[in-house]
Amino acid sequence: MVDIRNKRCRHPDCTKYPSYGQGSTNKAEYCSKHRHQGMVNVVSKRCNHAGCTKQPSHGKDCSNKRELCAQHVKERMTIVRQATCERPGVAI
Ligand SMILES: [Zn+2]
Ligand SMILES: [Zn+2]
Repeated sequence: MVDIRNKRCRHPDCTKYPSYGQGSTNKAEYCSKHRHQGMVNVVSKRCNHAGCTKQPSHGKDCSNKRELCAQHVKERMTIVRQATCERPGVAI
């Protein structure tokens, strides 16, 4: 029986909680130390931009929600400026 509540990194003897896995399956299998090349953090929130694996640091409106990384918030700035928000694309 596998205890799914105490999920651990698949590396032998590693007791860390896994946060990395194949982006396609979204299943966390390894910790940051033992992750394989190409594996992405499937636990942390990622930038809303399709295919971007960076962690979001910017909100695109006044919602105080981190949705985009610094790179992609710039690309969408033009859309944001049309909104009524006084601080579009501000770092949260
Ligand atoms: Zn590990
Ligand atoms: Zn991004």
